[in-house]
Amino acid sequence: MNRPRVGVVALQGGVREHIELLASLDAVPVPLKQPADLTGPDGLRVDAVVLPGGESSTIDRLLKLFGLGEPLTDAIRAGLPTLGTCAGLIQLAAHITDPAPGQTSFGVLDVTVRRNAFGRQIDSAEMGLDTAWGPAWVAFIRAPEVVSYGPAVTPVATLHDRIVAVTQGSITGIAFHPELTGETLFHRRLLESMA
Ligand code: GLN
Repeated sequence: MNRPRVGVVALQGGVREHIELLASLDAVPVPLKQPADLTGPDGLRVDAVVLPGGESSTIDRLLKLFGLGEPLTDAIRAGLPTLGTCAGLIQLAAHITDPAPGQTSFGVLDVTVRRNAFGRQIDSAEMGLDTAWGPAWVAFIRAPEVVSYGPAVTPVATLHDRIVAVTQGSITGIAFHPELTGETLFHRRLLESMA
């Protein structure tokens, strides 16, 4: 098979690390800023997409400003394999308990998330997690938690009994950063889901 083309939403936050990790897994990273990066005359230009972490309200504002939010939501809803990390998880969620003024999300992942859920307890830390997919070494940075989820969603990892990773069909949302520690588990799953 040709090397898979994986879009990385490249508006703000930890974009470069995702691009490097995907390249190391022999995928072709495709930075996405505007609708034309995502869709061409022949349809979608990417086989999967990653939504990086950063500041979710800023990313949301830029997605609207560049007009990327709507076509991306449509593509994800239509089954584009998707991985959202941290702010990316927030962007995918159906509900945010504590959005910034005007902040909205795609609503493609049937979860309610709470931003900055771990407070001072885990402002920023690297740790090992036991996930349903195996052990992972990851970084938490002002991470959200999944406070509730619908029947189509399966939890994949918890931290202190709070849900920090979920999957629903072609969509995976994780509250932490594997790209900062070089953890490949979640990106490999994304690529394998397309094989
Ligand atoms: N706390 C950030 C937010 O609410 C997310 C942090 C992150 O992506 N590392 O947007």
